[in-house]
Amino acid sequence: MTAARSLSTVDDLVAAGLVREDKRAQTAAVAERYAVAVTPPLVALIDADDPFDPIARQFVPDAAELVTLPEERDDPIGDLAHSPVEGVVHRYPDRVLLKAVHVCPVYCRFCFRREMVGPEGLGTLTPAELDAAIAYIAGRPQIWEVILTGGDPLVLSPRRLRDMMERLAAIDHLKIVRFHTRVPVVDPARIDAALIEALKASGKTTYVALHANHPREFTEDARAAIARIVDAGLVMISQTVLLKGVNDDADVLAALMRTFVENRIKPYYLHHPDLAPGTAHFRLSLAEGRALVERLRGRVSGLCQPAYILDIPGGHGKVRADSMAVEEADDGCFRLRDFRGETHFYPPKES
Ligand code: SF4
Repeated sequence: MTAARSLSTVDDLVAAGLVREDKRAQTAAVAERYAVAVTPPLVALIDADDPFDPIARQFVPDAAELVTLPEERDDPIGDLAHSPVEGVVHRYPDRVLLKAVHVCPVYCRFCFRREMVGPEGLGTLTPAELDAAIAYIAGRPQIWEVILTGGDPLVLSPRRLRDMMERLAAIDHLKIVRFHTRVPVVDPARIDAALIEALKASGKTTYVALHANHPREFTEDARAAIARIVDAGLVMISQTVLLKGVNDDADVLAALMRTFVENRIKPYYLHHPDLAPGTAHFRLSLAEGRALVERLRGRVSGLCQPAYILDIPGGHGKVRADSMAVEEADDGCFRLRDFRGETHFYPPKES
């Protein structure tokens, strides 16, 4: 079915046939706790008769979200511990995250920032907070790259994006601006000439990292939106979250990675799912993820190989989950070495 507007309430989901009447109460309990939004292009993609539909699984609330395990954390990758000023996360010396906005066109049920995003989330930076964030970046010559994430930065108007990019363009030591977004697949009509123009900054290189998790997300409209971005000279890379019941299958992953490449997007990150609250039903074990990635290695061209990444819980940065920095310890536990050489366990031994 097609919807005229995004579905954001339980009534909307029931009326669209995406939630059964007998599941209304439990869906309402989930929606009380975590934001909900499904855009019309995604509603049109969902097969409501398929209880295992991989698109529905990513966006339609599930009662399993009400179960929070002891090892799950509100801030699984430790953004807050590395936030020197509001909206900035500075974990690695040469790059920062700039989170100008905490709303998204869709709310992914597995989101690692689910406690921060949404209408009740951390909101949008005030002009004074944005000034402080830009001043922080301008004052640190070691910052080579800014990663605009959130929330989804492409929900901002072209005017606001242009203003922000002009201010970033004025910082000499900054060379790269990277946007992380789901908009080209979940709301492709938004990718128009004005928005694309606003992503460019004089003297800087812009990368657009598209978050997509299943090949079916690449509708004709999504492919056209991606083509508009690439044709305008922006470089596109991908990020995917490895999700049980969505893409935990070597054939699906191979098709997804090939689809990125066919659309001129270089596969970049395949994330092991984070320990976000209420997301255990999406999580594979690290051993399962490593075995799956091993199967992908022999199946697709080197062009289609993403880096399989685990964000070490607690904000210790990323580690290649299929590298020598990750060793099997005991009881299904892994020993990880972070980029500073420090050792951690996964799953974490402490909760
Ligand atoms: S688009 Fe990104 S930030 Fe927004 S809900 Fe999905 S995963 Fe979270």
